[in-house]
Amino acid sequence: MKLKNKVAVVTGGNSGIGFGIAEALKNEGAIGAITGRNQVTLDNAVKELGEGFIGIKGDVTNLDDLENVYKVTAGKFGKIDTLVVNAGGIVDGQPMMSISDVTEQNYDLYMNLNLKSTYFSVKKALPYLNDGASIILIGSTAAHRAAPGMTIYAAAKAAVISLAKGLSLDLLSRRIRVNTLSPGSIETPVFGKIVPEENLAGLKQMWVNIIPVGRMGSPADMGKAAAFLASDDSEFIVGTELISDGGMTNIS
Ligand code: NDP
Repeated sequence: MKLKNKVAVVTGGNSGIGFGIAEALKNEGAIGAITGRNQVTLDNAVKELGEGFIGIKGDVTNLDDLENVYKVTAGKFGKIDTLVVNAGGIVDGQPMMSISDVTEQNYDLYMNLNLKSTYFSVKKALPYLNDGASIILIGSTAAHRAAPGMTIYAAAKAAVISLAKGLSLDLLSRRIRVNTLSPGSIETPVFGKIVPEENLAGLKQMWVNIIPVGRMGSPADMGKAAAFLASDDSEFIVGTELISDGGMTNIS
């Protein structure tokens, strides 16, 4: 158990990758909190995780909500050792868009959800973090491979990778490490937000055909990578990006 009694917060831990990461941290002995806006999926996820984890409702684009997440977690468990800034992705009801359809409001929503919220998820956590904590930002291989309709999302995730580098230096005096974990194509509910139900199987098969190892990634794959970045096994890994994508980013 590499994270025995370490206190973790996983934003967006009520679904997909965030839940897979929370499970993996728990399996390594961590306790703590998962967050999300949807109370029903939050309750279900907490029940599935079992003893040691609580759910805290909050919107990561709301700075008061972020403050509350950390205050409640630290109040219950003590200071935080592992922060996984995972909440993000597709803005509700506004999946891929061509440049002709993008509005200023749509642009701001994507940047707020994927970039601004990441920065402030870290900043607001600082008073509640232990020295020597590990912060894991969830990026995306979309930062490295262009995809139609995903330009703003991809740019925000590229900036997240940059944030990890800068924040690592900012937080060096407290020995707080910041790294990015960039997933490739991972099987989560997000694909149901991008294409209609009848196209889901086709989309997934397309990814299986493209990804060199011949399968999509799973939330459990992301959990293993995150547990490594959270643990002392990665103590000399600072400000870098770990890509977990079955080899996809390397193919031209
Ligand atoms: P899901 O849609 O399954 O999960 C998204 C999570 O983010 C949910 O827990 C959701 O909870 C939470 N969330 C979304 N908006 C907000 C908000 N405003 N405030 C608080 N929580 C929010 O997607 P994934 O698990 O696939 O995505 C998780 C992360 O991984 C994202 O950052 C995404 O960009 C990244 N990623 C995913 C890839 C994939 O292939 N699946 C590939 C590369 C990166 P709720 O709705 O309850 O608020």
